[in-house]
Amino acid sequence: MRVIVAGAGPAGFVVARTLVERGHEVVLLEKRDVPGGKVSAWQDADGDWIESGLHVFFGAYHHLLDFLNRYGLGDTFNWKPAEMIFASERHGLAGISFVPWLPPPFNGLAGVARFKPLSLGDKLRMGLGLLRPIFGDQRYVDQQDDETYASWHLRHGMGQRSLDEVMHTMCLALNFLPADKVSAKLPLTAMLHFAHEKQAPMMALVKGSPDVNIWRPLMGQIEARGGRVELGRKVVGIEYDEAANRVTGFQMDDGSLVTGDVYVSAMPVHSLRKVLPPAWRKFAYFDNLKHLKGAPVITMQLFFDRQIAGVDNLLFSAGTHLSVYADMAMVAPEYHRGGKSIMQFVVAPAEKLITLSDDELVQFVMQEFVRLHPVAREARLLKHTIVRIPNSVYQALPGVDKYRPDQASPVSNFFLAGDYTRQHFMASIEGATISAMQCVERITEAVARGAIAPAREVIAAD
Ligand SMILES: Cc1cc2nc3c(=O)[nH]c(=O)nc-3n(C[C@H](O)[C@H](O)[C@H](O)COP(=O)(O)OP(=O)(O)OC[C@H]3O[C@@H](n4cnc5c(N)ncnc54)[C@H](O)[C@@H]3O)c2cc1C
Repeated sequence: MRVIVAGAGPAGFVVARTLVERGHEVVLLEKRDVPGGKVSAWQDADGDWIESGLHVFFGAYHHLLDFLNRYGLGDTFNWKPAEMIFASERHGLAGISFVPWLPPPFNGLAGVARFKPLSLGDKLRMGLGLLRPIFGDQRYVDQQDDETYASWHLRHGMGQRSLDEVMHTMCLALNFLPADKVSAKLPLTAMLHFAHEKQAPMMALVKGSPDVNIWRPLMGQIEARGGRVELGRKVVGIEYDEAANRVTGFQMDDGSLVTGDVYVSAMPVHSLRKVLPPAWRKFAYFDNLKHLKGAPVITMQLFFDRQIAGVDNLLFSAGTHLSVYADMAMVAPEYHRGGKSIMQFVVAPAEKLITLSDDELVQFVMQEFVRLHPVAREARLLKHTIVRIPNSVYQALPGVDKYRPDQASPVSNFFLAGDYTRQHFMASIEGATISAMQCVERITEAVARGAIAPAREVIAAD
């Protein structure tokens, strides 16, 4: 079977690599000149890597870790202790460390009990308030989707301080939205995993650039098995045979038509919506995609002439727009540069910041950063890089979850993969991986049912 996949982000790669392994002919089309989507990285004129985002991988990412292990890429990560370190003007650095010798959820609760910025009253209220999700299940968490997390938190008696000092930051880190906007389901899903699984809160970063460590090796493997990965190839339309209810080709920006037996969109939802045939509006499945809107976010890297934070782990901050950041020169061994920091920030909420000029943005971030790390005042800023992403992961607003589509569409040979599609995890690299696995299963089921024309040409797997 010939499968055409649009979008070489994590979801597109997982679909393409899995299907090529199963003996199908796969063409992976990517509009940008670099692979990896929101997890891409590329080099600037100095040879420094620019990353589209600071990417953290958790022990809970079983599907992704299994996938990478299966294809010989399991040794990609630099694992860090399971600790959330918060930086704030008032308290300096303070960590919630998961206690390694305690079983979950007590490892996390003991970590919260030792977290200095919260009073004893705050900790007790937080422990009690979180009992239901901690000892609950995904069904309970799913039912909390109609409320914002801030409202849920306060309604469960946990108080403003734990919201401001911990949970607001977690919401920003997970979806780039503040706690009073994001659905309660999102942080509660993360907590459910942390509370049930000992290795879930373990964190890792790629040893260096994801381009070198993940995407290029996968491209090589796909191509070695007869597949094709075509960069700089943008899908601009979908050719649809209404009578047969089948896609007959992806129209490309150079005027060509790419054809196959099965078509997969692994594009982000805002990109997919731009190319939907007008005839598909009649399907609620496609029409509902209008409810899924991307969250704006900015990634900034600041290169300093010395070491600033001195922390070999992620940092979270309360009360700033620097929701998560890390010194890449410390956390990723391949980025080491002789004790000089490369601070990489996820800047959110970014709605009001994204239109600022580069100089204004750097000034804004520096102002917040020196409040957290006064030593940065003395340092010389050597250079900066900025990546603006107006539509990143879909905004997990209250009530939106029900509009996430299954991977099988009402069009017989058209399937979806991507973090926004229906899967039990959050919009994340793990979520994208799960969606891709489900997409592969939906295709397999459709072929088994005879809903898709049989393979015209099969390339043998090794
Ligand atoms: C700043 C930032 C930080 C993040 N941090 C984390 C983190 O720490 N941990 C985590 O798990 N997740 C994180 N995420 C989320 C994670 O990056 C996404 O969930 C994941 O990349 C989604 O994968 P995807 O394949 O569904 O989509 P994408 O990564 O968006 O890939 C889609 C691909 O489709 C391509 N495309 C779009 N339109 C077309 C077209 N017309 N034709 C052809 N190709 C097209 C795009 O160029 C892109 O390559 C972060 C995201 C951002 C932005």
